[in-house]
Amino acid sequence: MELETHTTPDGDAVFVDRTEADRGSKGPFFAVYRSETRGERWGYFCGNCEGFDTAMDTMARIECNDCGNVRKPEEWDAAHE
Ligand SMILES: [Zn+2]
Repeated sequence: MELETHTTPDGDAVFVDRTEADRGSKGPFFAVYRSETRGERWGYFCGNCEGFDTAMDTMARIECNDCGNVRKPEEWDAAHE
């Protein structure tokens, strides 16, 4: 599976893996790597607004600062399965 090449707002080239997704409230969060070999994790890509302005807090909660898409920790899965 090929990774998608994107450029972050900071001008860095990063690689988005669309096969590795975490479900969020508005759309998926995709894994982002610094290299094509998935060597170093960069962070998350918001599949809802196609943006990189995401943050993960100490509770493993991922949130998009642009559109408010959020992936909550464990209880999110428990409540929907
Ligand atoms: Zn977003």
